Amino acid sequence: MKLEKMSYAQAAEAFKNDPVVIIPVGSLEQHGPQCALGTDFLVPQYMADKLSAVDNVIVAPTVNYGVCDYHMSFPGTVSIGVEGLSLLLGKIVEGLMSHGARRFLVLNGHGGNTPAIDSAALKAYKAGGILAELDWWVVVGQLDKRYAGGHGDKIETEAMLAVDESAVHLELAMDMDAKKLTDEIYPVHIQSLRFKGADLRIARDTKETAPHGWFGPWDPRDAKKEEGEAMMELCVSYAEAFIEEFRKVEL
Ligand SMILES: [Zn+2]
Repeated sequence: MKLEKMSYAQAAEAFKNDPVVIIPVGSLEQHGPQCALGTDFLVPQYMADKLSAVDNVIVAPTVNYGVCDYHMSFPGTVSIGVEGLSLLLGKIVEGLMSHGARRFLVLNGHGGNTPAIDSAALKAYKAGGILAELDWWVVVGQLDKRYAGGHGDKIETEAMLAVDESAVHLELAMDMDAKKLTDEIYPVHIQSLRFKGADLRIARDTKETAPHGWFGPWDPRDAKKEEGEAMMELCVSYAEAFIEEFRKVEL
């Protein structure tokens, strides 16, 4: 069920049954020249649409904006910062809890959102609830090594091909052209750099590491829609299994 389509009379009934409330959360941010700015919320929203058919699940409206200050040099990107997302998610959880919801599953599309999601989770916990975060790209990468990717690389591009082909523009794809910091300090992800076999974190604008915005092990030009569909299916069935187990947590 989708909360946005229910009346308050239906919501009153639905909240009585200790439902799992899904909140898709993403970000409006650059994903390389070929992939949509909305990737990080469109993918979780697609998954939530599939999961809305599961019994005793309520899908709340998607949070389209997130924490992506480091992508701001790329046109179209908008960040609401950790404070903005913490406040927004905290208020959403508070509102839903006031109607009886206690179990939340945040389907997250963007790593930068995690501190804000943690803060909402602690808010839920202190009020007697529980909030889990599922990062789709982490789940698919752990369940199948072929799907372990980076930012705006083949993996996210494939996911978007499955979600909405019209939001992928492969003809605009470019080489990664990743930049080293020094001869001995080189990036392993946008803000993770390796020096002598171990990694350190340096937060800077993405363009300093990945001038075209994408960074990862796989070239987006190799993206295939069928792979994206398989990946989404894998993640949706994982989420479905998790939801069933999550209901057993005693509150
Ligand atoms: Zn992304």
